[in-house]
Amino acid sequence: MALGLVQKLAWSAGLTSPARYVARAQKEHPRTNPFRNLAVDRLGHLAARLPYDLKVGLADGSIVAGEISVVAPEAWMEPVWPGGHAILIHSGLSEFIYSVSRTMHAQVRTISGALPDQQIVEPSIPLSQTLDMIKRTFDEFIHHRRIEKPGGYPIHEDQIRRASALAVEAEAFWLAHELAHVLLARGKASKTSPSEHEELAADRIALDIVMGRYLPADAEAPPSGRMVYAGAEFAIRIYSALAHLGFDFKDTHPAPDVRLLNLRECAIRSAGYANFTRISTIAFAYDTFLEEIERRVVPPDKAGFVIGPTVERLVSVLLAAIEECARGRQTEKDLRVVVKALRKEAGEPMLLAAFAKAEQLYLPQAAVPREQDLARMVLEAQAYWQLVEAFAPEQRRAAPVA
Ligand SMILES: [Zn+2]
Repeated sequence: MALGLVQKLAWSAGLTSPARYVARAQKEHPRTNPFRNLAVDRLGHLAARLPYDLKVGLADGSIVAGEISVVAPEAWMEPVWPGGHAILIHSGLSEFIYSVSRTMHAQVRTISGALPDQQIVEPSIPLSQTLDMIKRTFDEFIHHRRIEKPGGYPIHEDQIRRASALAVEAEAFWLAHELAHVLLARGKASKTSPSEHEELAADRIALDIVMGRYLPADAEAPPSGRMVYAGAEFAIRIYSALAHLGFDFKDTHPAPDVRLLNLRECAIRSAGYANFTRISTIAFAYDTFLEEIERRVVPPDKAGFVIGPTVERLVSVLLAAIEECARGRQTEKDLRVVVKALRKEAGEPMLLAAFAKAEQLYLPQAAVPREQDLARMVLEAQAYWQLVEAFAPEQRRAAPVA
């Protein structure tokens, strides 16, 4: 959409404009780090993936995003008369997300290279210590409005690299969510305040943006669909823990479990079930961990939103393990350990039965120890990918999504 006459007049007369709105906010809260501009950086990160209307709006100045140095981990959208939109991203958003991600990654096992020369980095500190540190990060912010600088624990550069990648994708999703609000606001005539319905719609549009669904057919897909999707789930998890601790966000969002399940439904619908289990492997690997964090930071009476293991999560982790094995990054012995752990995690009979079926489909011989040739495993894994589409509806019914 092009700029209207009223907009041109009002904005050039200097009465008001999205750029002025952002500049005024930045004057009030000047950026403390001159070498970083969060809004510009993350917009650049998303640029190619944005839908046409947003590209036009950002180019003609009717949409302006800027960072302001406010500690709170938040970003929000403000309509600017007439018909403009400003997005303000607090510097605390990036600091908080990175701090949690970095601490969490001290717990991540990274593998690079193939067997037998692979480099494995094991978790550098005990799980309980990591959970305590993250709990403290949340507590410090809620009680003292201070964001703890990460550090004071050993961490490998591979782990740091992953922590940064996850944080970048989480921030990009958060920004995409605000941009989605602009699209939604421009698509409707009345000026009602954002409803729950609209928040879920914003999440769906944001997911479509980050996953590259607005890219032209011949464009290159985002580098790592898995990290991008993990970032989206991570952003919602951070949001949910803060909201449950009583932090008052500008937007009133629906319950986090509703948001997460909405996101998953949306990803399944647009990517297909098999692709979803493929892109969600990293997200689900973090999921169990993040749920444990939520259980610790949020009072028990508010922890009713914990989703727990679903068939998707179990299958997804199983697939990641098969793939690691097929690529020669893990041994079959490792794979069997994973399968055993997942079976234990499945717990309840209905979930266990659904998982056993998935296991049969993906890995028919998992239970029978025998020499297995890796090349054949790759072919088998590919065949199971195709099978799972047909199998999906039944699996979905078995998943406890209520
Ligand atoms: Zn929102």
